[in-house]
Amino acid sequence: MTAARPTVLQPGATIGILGGGQLGRMLALAAAQLGFHCHVYSDDADSPAFDVVQKWICGSYADEAKLAAFADSVDVITYEFENVPSETADFLSARRTVLPDPAVLARTQDRLIEKTFVTDLGIATAPFAAIGSPEELAAAVDAIGLPAVLKTRRLGYDGKGQAMIAEGSAPLRAWEAIGRAPAILEGFVPFEREISVVIARSADGQLQSFDVAENEHRDHILKVSRVPAAIAPEVAVRAHDIAASIANAFGYVGVLAVEMFVVRDGTETSVLVNEIAPRVHNSGHWTLDGCSVSQFEQHIRAIAGWPLAVPVRWADVEMINLIGEEANDYGRWLGLPGAALHLYGKDEARPGRKMGHVTRVLHKAT
Ligand code: AMP
Repeated sequence: MTAARPTVLQPGATIGILGGGQLGRMLALAAAQLGFHCHVYSDDADSPAFDVVQKWICGSYADEAKLAAFADSVDVITYEFENVPSETADFLSARRTVLPDPAVLARTQDRLIEKTFVTDLGIATAPFAAIGSPEELAAAVDAIGLPAVLKTRRLGYDGKGQAMIAEGSAPLRAWEAIGRAPAILEGFVPFEREISVVIARSADGQLQSFDVAENEHRDHILKVSRVPAAIAPEVAVRAHDIAASIANAFGYVGVLAVEMFVVRDGTETSVLVNEIAPRVHNSGHWTLDGCSVSQFEQHIRAIAGWPLAVPVRWADVEMINLIGEEANDYGRWLGLPGAALHLYGKDEARPGRKMGHVTRVLHKAT
């Protein structure tokens, strides 16, 4: 896949961001730091990103008149969520350069296509099989074994559209729990830890990745990322190599994240890919305070045709997500040494909603 080459944008140019969540907000802030303007398009009137830009459009992702006005007012378009409808991406890319190339979306929106793409690169994943009927489910359970995880092929995130199938339980019930949607069955991975690599690739193929993060989830939602991950150097090298192969195979321009499982079997350690996010990622938020360049700035540089920065991590860091009502207690972080608070300006602290995060820069022995 060859990505469109961005023209080199000058400060003062306008970057269009599709999606108005906290990722769009932090991208817009990073763009402003480099002297760019941002124009945000989102279908949600309460978009956190609207607060930090001068120009925004609230419209449906199918509203061609609004999308055309958006495209005409910007120099390049990027997106902050991977479920951009393909018709929207095609419509926009006929008018303006969209980076990363929307062809990446087609490969990452469907878990079956994504996992097949990854294994075709010679990279390991959990064993998986496509599920479209009770017969396929029974055959997959026979082949893969239990426990296993059933996941909808499309539109799953933060554990939504997923059902565990424990040993001795009824697989069909799990499929019913996810609405009998087209799915994949994945073998359950008895991982030692979960890690992620956030990597940037420029149009001319320069790669820069951030140090590997170790991720802890609660209720399927990322709770804490710690950097560096407690892994052997050769495991970190493997993780970086995997992310680089994926970014290169896409001809990617921008920042992407690869979530992985570290599995130990006796003395052997292997790294399996769980998921690719073709965007900036929650496990990279630590870079805002713990690194010489943030993932958001790195993404803006890449899509603006600028050289990537060489990231230097300041210290060991920990990023803690503030989920739902936890954000109401923001005051407890304000006096903590090394802590930086980020609130996303969302009105309603619904359970499971990411309201903000805290980065703690931990003292490093000198
Ligand atoms: P996902 O939506 O695929 O990122 O999955 C969300 C979380 O569920 C992961 O971060 C893991 O903690 C867990 N999980 C997903 N797939 C598997 C698997 N095949 N084996 C074990 N745990 C899994």
